Formats: sequence, structure tokens, C-alpha cells
Amino acid sequence: MRVPARLFVQLVAAVLLGCPGAGDLSSQRAAAREYRPGFDVLDYDLTIELPDSGRSIRGTALLTVRRTAAGSGAPAADTLALDLVRMQVSNVSVNGRGVAFGRTAEAIRVPLPPGRADTLRVSVSYGGEVRDGLVIRTDAHGRWTAFGDNWPNRARHWIPSIDHPSDKATVSWTVRTPPGRTVVANGRQLPLGRMRVGYAEARTSRWREDRPIPTYAMVIAAAPLVRHDLGTAACGLAELDRCVEQAVYTAPEARDYMPGPFATARAIVDWMARLIGPFPYEKLAHVQSSTIYGGMENASAIFYDDRLFRDRTMSVELIAHETAHQWFGDAVTEREWPHLWLSEGFATYFSALWTEHAQGDSAFRAQMAATRSQILADSSAVPRRPVIDTIETNLTALLNANSYQKGGWTLHMLRRAVGDSAFFRGIRQYYGTYRHGTALTDDLQRAIEATSGQQLDWFFDQWLRRPGYPTPVLTWDYDSTAARVTVTVDQERSRFGAYRFPLTLVVHDASGARRKVVIDVDPRPRTSLQLPFAVTARPVRVVPDPDVDLLARFDER
Ligand SMILES: [Zn+2]
Repeated sequence: MRVPARLFVQLVAAVLLGCPGAGDLSSQRAAAREYRPGFDVLDYDLTIELPDSGRSIRGTALLTVRRTAAGSGAPAADTLALDLVRMQVSNVSVNGRGVAFGRTAEAIRVPLPPGRADTLRVSVSYGGEVRDGLVIRTDAHGRWTAFGDNWPNRARHWIPSIDHPSDKATVSWTVRTPPGRTVVANGRQLPLGRMRVGYAEARTSRWREDRPIPTYAMVIAAAPLVRHDLGTAACGLAELDRCVEQAVYTAPEARDYMPGPFATARAIVDWMARLIGPFPYEKLAHVQSSTIYGGMENASAIFYDDRLFRDRTMSVELIAHETAHQWFGDAVTEREWPHLWLSEGFATYFSALWTEHAQGDSAFRAQMAATRSQILADSSAVPRRPVIDTIETNLTALLNANSYQKGGWTLHMLRRAVGDSAFFRGIRQYYGTYRHGTALTDDLQRAIEATSGQQLDWFFDQWLRRPGYPTPVLTWDYDSTAARVTVTVDQERSRFGAYRFPLTLVVHDASGARRKVVIDVDPRPRTSLQLPFAVTARPVRVVPDPDVDLLARFDER
């Protein structure tokens, strides 16, 4: 997603209020913990009845849940806890039989028949006023609307669920609305078939997402929306159909703004499918919505802040960011929240890569330079916490310059470290291996190590498991007799310790000539070496990192 400025103020405040240290590397490498051990939801079949006034909904959730045994011979768990905040639950059944369920403010406790590994059908009937997750309100023109907005764990306010990104599932939606609403949801729209409409004025819409997605990306939109067709993209490069159909859904007032920046959406999907791998879903809708984020990458149905349409300030960069999330975040999902950069860092970098593709090298470098400035200016997350932050428990506070900008920059430096061929082959391999599943940072590391033949522990540790960035002092000496330049990179008093990195230098001499050279800087207090060429005219400047390839703050003398 993309965080709007007004939310950033709250986030910075949240981060500043509690700032423990970075934690040690061993705890950050701890094995993945299961959020709800012994259970895996395979499918949600959700029926939601929306009101024409007020915020009370009625719902039925039919979950297909695989129960796994704890170990060889060990009995399986006898209670399933489902996240559901506040809603009144009228009935719970397991495999068609009603059960005496328990209820807390946050969860339903469902007793299960004795068993070992098996698959259960758990049905929950519930209802009540929705406080969060499904945003029901009138729009700027007083029209009633409802939009799902679940990130990070707000699905539990309206969907009985195992509400954690480690447990992905397929989802079917049956949505009943008052008349005059267009419904958009994940996946493909289904014909109503023999379904009976419950009352005369009701409108029913059915959608089906055939690929497992995280609960934070399971949404519906129900509003007076008009559809703008964007045509098809990624033909022959889509997983579920020959082509990806794209459309924008907006309020009627935005009709003449369309397609606007969405004219590029087709080229973005085409290019990303070619670069990364097949587009993972049935279609791609872009929806004007009431998400609290600037944009939210719900699987196959991206929701954007409605002000971007009303003010006509939608950007191609945002469209590219949310579109990249369809591959990274939605199809390959971070298994644990501290690895959020696998979603946001990727979307940030692949949006910059779109700029490189569409506008060329200097536009790309300008975007990377701007992103680097944001990292160097950050005083809350970057200097205090590593990107893989195992300490922060406020999930919204993870929407910071570490997860986004520094995560994106880490991918950029990884690409420069191993070269374009190994980098993009590694990304394709990572996507192909973990598509429709979940991943941790080590999974990405293994994929890039496999395609590059390099051992990359040092790279991933220094950029993702330590706070900060290099702050070296660069000095140089000129020996006019030998016509040689010696450069020294001093990291002894660097704020975040010594780093290892390749460093490009450009030597400008008094004759106006320029020579470019790359040196390897060691993670030692001082790296000093003579440049491997003669400089006959006295140097006037030695410029570090002319191509914007290194995240560092240089102090030149
Ligand atoms: Zn994002």
C-alpha cells in the first residue's frame, strides 16, 4: 500500500513513543512461528448482506479448515480459535452439526470433534454493526458506500478468520446490496445461476478468487460505481486466462477523468508480467474507494483513496506500486510481519523500475536519489531499527522508511552487487517458487545466491538486520611525482559501524578529464588504496557514487 501524508504524522509519533534497540541477529533469525498452530484455512465462502442505512451487516462464513497433527502420534488440537471482534455470533457448526462455541471480545472458540489430521467445514452465522475493516459510509455526494479495508489485521472486524498473512486461502463472495450499487471483489464475477434472491429489491453479486490470498487483501466494494474498460494486458503471460482484463471503477463524477493516468495500466501489467512472471489473478480492477491508505493492493482489486480521483492527483508511480504488489505481497506474501519489506520494498523498487523502463536512466536515478534522501532524512525508523524489525509490535508503525524506501534500496544494491542477469533470474525464481504461498527474507537470499553463485549472508545481514547505513569519510591524496591518487574510506567513527560495499569514484583532474573506477570497501575502520591508473594533471575532485548506486551519507574532505 501507500501511506498518505496525514497518516505518516501519526506513524512517526507511534514510533517515537517506544523505541527499544535493534535486537541481536540470532533472535532475528529465529524460525518462523505459526500464528495459529495446527490449523490452515483453505477456503472462505462468505455471504455478506449489506444495509441501506446504518452499519449493521449480516454474514455467514463457511470455512474449509485443514487440521494438522502437532507431531507424529500427537493428537490434533481440539479447539479452533477464529478471530472475530465484537460481532454477535448466532450459530456455529462443524461439519453440519451445531456446536456450543465460546466467545471472547476478540475470538470465537470452536470445539472440534476428536481427530487427527482432517479437513473440517466450519460455519459461522453472525451480524451486527461493523466498526472497522469494512468501511460503510456516505461518499462526498451523500451516497451510501461500503469498501473493505483490512490491512494489517482488520479483516477480523467483519470476517471470522485466521487473520494473519501466514494463512492464505481462496475466497468466494456472495454480496447482497440495496439496489443501485456496483459490487467489485477479488477474482472473477460468477453468474448467479440458480441462486434465489431473498427479497424483491435485493441485488446479489458473486465473485470467486481461485488463488490463495492473505486475509488483509480479501475485500468487496459496494457503491454507485461506473466501470471504465482498460482492455486486456499480458496476453499469454497470465496464469488463469489468456489475457488480464483491466478496468477502473469510479464514482460517476470521475467519468471524464478516465482513463487519465490509468492509460498506462496496460503497459505496466504487460511489462511486469514479462519481467517477473505470469500475472497471478483473474483480472485487475482499480477502484475509487474509502481506504485509509493512499492505495491498497487488494488481490486483483486495488483500492485507491477517493481524493486522488476527486482532486485528479492520481500518479502513475502509485499505480505501478500497487500493481507490483499483485506479484509481491499478494501472490508472494511475507509470512511474518517483520518481513514486510518483501512486500513494500519490492513495490517501491518495482515502481522505480517502471520509471527506468518508461522514462530512462536519468529519471530512474532521480527517483532513487529522492528515495535515498527520504531514508537519510528519516529520524524515527531507519537509525533506530533494522528493516527486519522483530521488536515493533505496532503493525501500523511498520509502514515506515525501513519497509518502503530502505527495502527498495536494498533490492537496488542487490541488483548492482550480483548484476542484472543474476538479479532478475533470482527474482523470477523467487516468484516462481513462492507464488501463492508465503516467504521470508532467507527464501529471497537463497534464490539470489542460487542464480549469482555468491554467498550473500554479509549483504542481507548488513542491510536488513542492522539499523542505519554507511556514513564514511572519503579523503584522497595526490602524488604528483608518481602521478597517482590514493583514496581512503574511513569508517572508524561511522554512526552505524563499518559496511562492506563496492564504491564507484570519478576523478576529475585539472585538465577537465574524468576517470571512473570501482573499489571494494571492506567493513573495516579504514580502506586505503592507490587507484590503478596514472593521473597526470592534478585532481580537483573525487566524486563518490556518481550513478546513485549506494545508500550512504558521504562526508568529503
Ligand atoms: Zn505498498
